[in-house]
Amino acid sequence: MGKPEHIHLLDEATINQIAAGEVIERPASVVKELIDNSLDAGASDIRVEIEGAGSKSITVIDDGSGIGRDEAPVAFTKHSTSKIESKDDLHRIITLGFRGEALSSIAAVSRVELISRTADCLSAVKVRVEGGSVGETTDTGSSVGTRVEVRDLFYNTPARRKYLKSKRTELSHITDTVTRQALGNPEVSFTLLNEGKVVLRCGKGELFDRMVQVLGADVARQLIPLEYKDDLLSLWGYISKPGYYRSNREMNYFFVNGRNISSPAISNAVRLGYYTMLPKGRYPAAVLNVKINLEEVDVNVHPAKRYVRLSRENEIMDGISSAVEQALKQEKLVPEAKPSP
Ligand code: ADP
Ligand code: MG
Repeated sequence: MGKPEHIHLLDEATINQIAAGEVIERPASVVKELIDNSLDAGASDIRVEIEGAGSKSITVIDDGSGIGRDEAPVAFTKHSTSKIESKDDLHRIITLGFRGEALSSIAAVSRVELISRTADCLSAVKVRVEGGSVGETTDTGSSVGTRVEVRDLFYNTPARRKYLKSKRTELSHITDTVTRQALGNPEVSFTLLNEGKVVLRCGKGELFDRMVQVLGADVARQLIPLEYKDDLLSLWGYISKPGYYRSNREMNYFFVNGRNISSPAISNAVRLGYYTMLPKGRYPAAVLNVKINLEEVDVNVHPAKRYVRLSRENEIMDGISSAVEQALKQEKLVPEAKPSP
């Protein structure tokens, strides 16, 4: 293999593909980023349609605020966002997006068509982007909101495309993604269609209704409510009774300030609250919303925003463990300590 003679700057297209690889790992990442955008746009109804387990097409349709005519092409350039202005804003992120990377990353590795209309415009704007190059902007008809269609994901990155798993596996990642977003946003209705067939459909409601809809009534029956507040955090959601557990953390749904994250620390803190009530290596089901002061949470630690860093982690985890303990006690699932004679 030849070694380049000189150090040189990579061309724009190569840079974009490298960057895209960090954010967009598989079809489910596209679904996640597009739903995040719909939620940030204040959508109350989100519809996801996929074909070929996402590798043929992924379409997300929302009834959110929409994108203005002039802004639509800009949305596809790298690091362009309407959600923050300067680095100071990084310490008080209230939106799911803020890096301005999703649309540009998706568009670098697929063929995208965006149709969007804001309330103050009679017509919608339509933009096509292929392999990162933005085409002409045209007018079209549509209701207020945004529709993003992503076709032929990874068509220009054969290595990535080859790495895609079976349709079944990719579909289960997509379903898991939509399930997570749906659990975090019960006030928004969600529909997921695969090859025109309904995989998931849930109307707006309370968190408990949402759990019945996406996790099933059998699971929901095993859950008890939890509510907790101290100086540092507030918590609300549901945890499973001690008799119900899994061999992995797949039923751990955690939302920190509305953002679904993966957190072994929170998972362990929840487990600790059960003391010896769970067998070794077993995990409870938990759907937990954690609200912490924005300054205590660093959300800018992972390109796909899957993790956050908590500045007072130990105290927060202690709070979570005692919240779980209290919830189990309230349900009389923990024997009260006998008063000493
Ligand atoms: P980010 O979400 O980090 O800002 P994205 O690349 O995901 O970056 O999106 C770029 C911009 O495009 C957003 O900041 C937003 O202004 C606009 N946008 C994207 N999707 C939508 C949508 N569904 N509804 C309204 N605006 C959107
Ligand atoms: Mg985004």
